[in-house]
Amino acid sequence: MTGPPLPAHTAFISVGSNLGDKLACCQHGIAQVAELPRTRLLAQSLFYRTAPVDYLDQDWFVNAAIKVATGLEPKELLAALQAIQRRAGRTADSDQIRFGPRTLDLDIIFYDDCISDEPELTLPHPRMHKRRFVLQPLCDIDPKALHPVLRLPVDRLLAELDATDQDIVPL
Ligand code: AMP
Repeated sequence: MTGPPLPAHTAFISVGSNLGDKLACCQHGIAQVAELPRTRLLAQSLFYRTAPVDYLDQDWFVNAAIKVATGLEPKELLAALQAIQRRAGRTADSDQIRFGPRTLDLDIIFYDDCISDEPELTLPHPRMHKRRFVLQPLCDIDPKALHPVLRLPVDRLLAELDATDQDIVPL
């Protein structure tokens, strides 16, 4: 039996939370992404408990990554993810600390092999290749996913991180 054709585009989305019931926030966020119009969830990583990076004076995070097929264009997908974040309780006020605490963070890591350096939507995500909490979940899903600028797969980017840096443990 064949189902309906898959939507045309592939996106990898990083999911994170470090406020409230972090695991439930991530799970609920993923469920809402899976229900977006013209969007199908293709794969989901393990959940990880991860140490904060950049802004260190905050609680640990839960992180994961998902792969979706979508017919939404990049900015439509971004707007849809931002609406899900808002519904999870993120507001402009709660976002005042850059890299600070958040109930739900949904970032587009890759969208096909699109490259964009607009501040509103930078693709690939500009800090993903430095972050174990992004790269490890991506490797669970698709270790050979290629960074379209660096021209390296995510398993190579993960191997290039300093091994002693950035604690991350499967939940
Ligand atoms: P953050 O607080 O890390 O979630 O950053 C949110 C801001 O980053 C928003 O203003 C987005 O428009 C912008 N942004 C730029 N590139 C991306 C991306 N690839 N995924 C999600 N947000 C992005």
